[in-house]
Amino acid sequence: METPGNLFVVAAPSGAGKSSLVKALLELDSHLAVSVSHTTRAPRGQEQHGREYWFVGTDEFRQMAAQGDFFEWAEVHGNLYGTSRRAIEDRLARGEDVVLEIDWQGALQIKQIFGHAILIFILPPSWAELEQRLKRRGEDGADVIARRMENARLEVAQARHFDFVIINGLFETALFDLKTVVHSQRLRYAAQQRNKSQVFSALNLI
Ligand code: 5GP
Repeated sequence: METPGNLFVVAAPSGAGKSSLVKALLELDSHLAVSVSHTTRAPRGQEQHGREYWFVGTDEFRQMAAQGDFFEWAEVHGNLYGTSRRAIEDRLARGEDVVLEIDWQGALQIKQIFGHAILIFILPPSWAELEQRLKRRGEDGADVIARRMENARLEVAQARHFDFVIINGLFETALFDLKTVVHSQRLRYAAQQRNKSQVFSALNLI
């Protein structure tokens, strides 16, 4: 499916810093909107319905999936997560850029539907650093951390299917890299022609 807006898909193993990077990117870039996914997991801490996620029951989720309401959905760490059509279709059609912060399975499904989606994988600088970050978060016990590290090895192996890879060693450097990927898509010929139509027409390019 071709749309005028850019669709950026960001995936990473937990602890690689994906959410912080996407949050910082959104604060800097008012032309970018994040899609709010549906999930069957319970809200954590200050999370609000409709802000971080649409929190729904398993039956409702499965019904939505059966009706074809999701572009993609996947089971991640025992819960269901999905990107609804409503969340992104209109924005992309209007030419707005959208970022999806989803897992690698969802990212690969999105690429099948939107061939022009830009897949970005965030890597930690090393296994040791990833483990340190998971421990420093202080959210999980040793068994959960061990499971997340095991999952991370499977997830990281998927990075080769992505268009761009960003290593989140130094946060500011990784943020710069992410901004660069987003910016570069806006400099594509078709995007410039659409957004700078006056210049193109003055130069007899339209
Ligand atoms: P968390 O429960 O920690 O917010 O998210 C767990 C994982 O699910 C993260 O990797 C997150 O990116 C992923 N995720 C969130 N929303 C979606 C979605 O709509 N689809 C898919 N496939 N994964 C998602």
